[in-house]
Amino acid sequence: MILKRIRQILDRLSISLRFTLMVLLVVLAAAVTGYSSIVYWQLSAQREQVLDFTDSVTQLVAQDFAKIIRLNDLMAAADLSAKLSAFPPLRRAVLFDPQNAPRYRYVREGLPPCDALSLPERLPHFENACHGNAVRVFREASYAGIPLGVVLIEMETETLASILRRDALVLSLITLMVVVLSLVLARSLARQFNQPVLRLAGFLDEVGRYGKLDSRIETTQQNEIGRLYRDVNNMLARLEESTQAMRIATAAFEAPDGMMITDASNVILRVNRGFTRITGYTADEAVGKTPALLASGRHDNVFYDDMWCGLRAHDRWEGEIWNRHRDGTIFPCRLTIQAVRDEQGEVRNFVGALFDISRQKSAEAELAFLDRFDPLTGLANRRQLLDKTADIMVSAACQSGRHAALMCFDINDFKRINDTFGHRVGDCLLVEISRRLRKAFNNAGFVARLGGDEFAVVLQGLATETEAAVLDLEMRAESVLLLLGKPYTVNSETIRCLPCCGIALFTCTAVSPESILQQAQAALHHAKTAPDRNWSFYDPGSQLAARRYQSILTDLESALADGSIQPYYQVQVADGGRVVGVELLARWRVREGEFISPSVFIPVAERSGLIHVLGTQMLRQACQQLVEWRSREAYSQLSISVNVTAQQFLRQDFVSGVKHLIAETGVEPYKLKLELTESAMIEDIDLVVEKMQALSAFGIRISLDDFGTGYSCLRYLKRLPLDQVKIDQSFVRDMGSSQNDVAIVRSILSLGATLGFEVIAEGVEDQSQYEALHALGCRYFQGYWFGKPVPAEALDLSV
Ligand code: C2E
Ligand code: CA
Ligand code: CA
Repeated sequence: MILKRIRQILDRLSISLRFTLMVLLVVLAAAVTGYSSIVYWQLSAQREQVLDFTDSVTQLVAQDFAKIIRLNDLMAAADLSAKLSAFPPLRRAVLFDPQNAPRYRYVREGLPPCDALSLPERLPHFENACHGNAVRVFREASYAGIPLGVVLIEMETETLASILRRDALVLSLITLMVVVLSLVLARSLARQFNQPVLRLAGFLDEVGRYGKLDSRIETTQQNEIGRLYRDVNNMLARLEESTQAMRIATAAFEAPDGMMITDASNVILRVNRGFTRITGYTADEAVGKTPALLASGRHDNVFYDDMWCGLRAHDRWEGEIWNRHRDGTIFPCRLTIQAVRDEQGEVRNFVGALFDISRQKSAEAELAFLDRFDPLTGLANRRQLLDKTADIMVSAACQSGRHAALMCFDINDFKRINDTFGHRVGDCLLVEISRRLRKAFNNAGFVARLGGDEFAVVLQGLATETEAAVLDLEMRAESVLLLLGKPYTVNSETIRCLPCCGIALFTCTAVSPESILQQAQAALHHAKTAPDRNWSFYDPGSQLAARRYQSILTDLESALADGSIQPYYQVQVADGGRVVGVELLARWRVREGEFISPSVFIPVAERSGLIHVLGTQMLRQACQQLVEWRSREAYSQLSISVNVTAQQFLRQDFVSGVKHLIAETGVEPYKLKLELTESAMIEDIDLVVEKMQALSAFGIRISLDDFGTGYSCLRYLKRLPLDQVKIDQSFVRDMGSSQNDVAIVRSILSLGATLGFEVIAEGVEDQSQYEALHALGCRYFQGYWFGKPVPAEALDLSV
């Protein structure tokens, strides 16, 4: 405790004061030791002197003593006293006779008498007892060999106190000198030690103040100081090196890239200005948070697991990541994360470098766009058209025998327009043409610009029969050409132009997309030179089919008039085989056993407008049939589905016509189901919804036919008051071979479950298809396996 306290006090003292104290202590100790030795030696010498002196005195007094003892000579006693008084240090002397009786006493003048002095019982050889500043010595006295008795002599001696008293002045002077000398010595010693230390301190102070890490302290000393200086120099060199490295790191940290440093538990410790620029978060906002601050929500756990796996395995991860800016926008980044480990190999930090690659991405996207799109009109380019054509060739619809077509359009005198109005107007015209083409085909065709004034459209899902497909295409070509031929207003100029169209019909057996395009272009060339019309088909077969239109139309008119178009019914069954309804399919019998397919005469009816007559006839027949079945137990609960084309449905008086028919026949509206295809939806969707709602409110049910083949717009699906969706037969047919089709069927079924409509599969031809559909959760079916379309009388409900 005390030692500790002393230590604390010493630690507070300056080095030179400590030196002074130490030197003072050492010198004083040396002086005290020296002086003590001298005094000790003096005292021992004095004892020797006393003994010698006593011996001399004893011998000297022996003769007189003998006279006193033996002769009782009183003169001798007086003589002896005179002799003894000649020895100043002698204080007292007593002579004892052999009987130990005192016979003579001497006391120096001025001292008290010494009666008390007696001989001790047992005579010591020498008693050096101190009595104040006196020593008593006993000696046996003899003369001429005759023992005389004992002589006691008391001698005055110097004591330690008397010596000190005597030396006091000298001692004080010496002490003073010692103190002064030790101060001088201490100072010079302190300077010896202090100076290099103070020099070092001053040097380090300067280094610290001006940050001059490149300065070094000079020394020639080879001792401990020299070693200390060299160690300091080495340390500075290392410090300079690491400061330089730090400076480089700091400069690198302030690079334009975003940098962030986290601790081992991924908490952000530091970010740079680049980080703030890229992410919008300031250092204050980011520090203390984790990088999850930037999470965009576009990556799943698997992505982050992979990232951590890579980091753990290689201490490094690099990749592209979507981040969320402070303002909420999501942007792509290239991120590099490096783990930093300490000497023990423990991960201490992660350093992340962020590089905003939005621009790079958009440049890539732009390149990708240019690779696939026409920059002027934004339409697909030739390459994409060919890809699309190739896709169509292998599509389910095409493989099932449906036709597809590639239509080429161009403007006859575009060069003249360019020359007259300038290229800028020409460009505007091309943009307007592309807009009209898009509108004309809406979702039904894939529109592309081949270059110059040449455009192309590829269409799929056309009729299986060539005649039907040709008729359909003819109608489309005519209406599109009509639209394209209308005057254009560009920069307040009115421009008229003459469009023409070349059509190549194809199926999955076509040689290649390029050959189809060549055919369409050849047809286009032909159309330009044709005298009678501005469209042309490539192959002569199609041309021939086009000519048949007129004769079919004439026959159709009379067929509708004489009732040779009759309704056939195909059963629709629920899970378990119960027939729940039938679909009405029109049959045109030309001769006994010979029919013209609806896919041939329906397009003719549409083009000619006869579809409204046909449609009304079929609807009426369906209503009458329902009324008739009302009285028949087995049939009373059946519903009849009637096909309605887009043209029919969109006619202004359609809803009122249906209502009228229902009122006229008295049928329950819920027994009537109207089958619409998605082509009805591509027009004015608001109008479609309104009409559907009107029918639905009236109790009529609505089914969406051929679902999945058109350009299903899921966005609208929610808005439509649908009761049923029919999975197109092409998916059902290919389910066994195409996983893609299985996936489509599955998603249509789950869509039905979500949006609350019934899903029915059509074209079920065998048990395996039924079982596959059933396994996926389909509960309503239609197809040859349950029954072919037959006249009402031939219907068999026991499936
Ligand atoms: P849709 O509405 O998709 O009719 C289904 C077609 O598939 C019918 O052809 C039917 O006979 C056929 N079909 C039924 N089950 C099977 C099967 O298991 N396998 C195969 N391969 N085919 C099956 P259909 O009768 O030739 O009718 C063709 C199209 O003509 C119909 O397609 C419909 O769009 C139209 N259509 C028929 N009747 C009328 C009608 O009265 N009015 C209108 N607007 N269109 C009609
Ligand atoms: Ca149908
Ligand atoms: Ca269908």
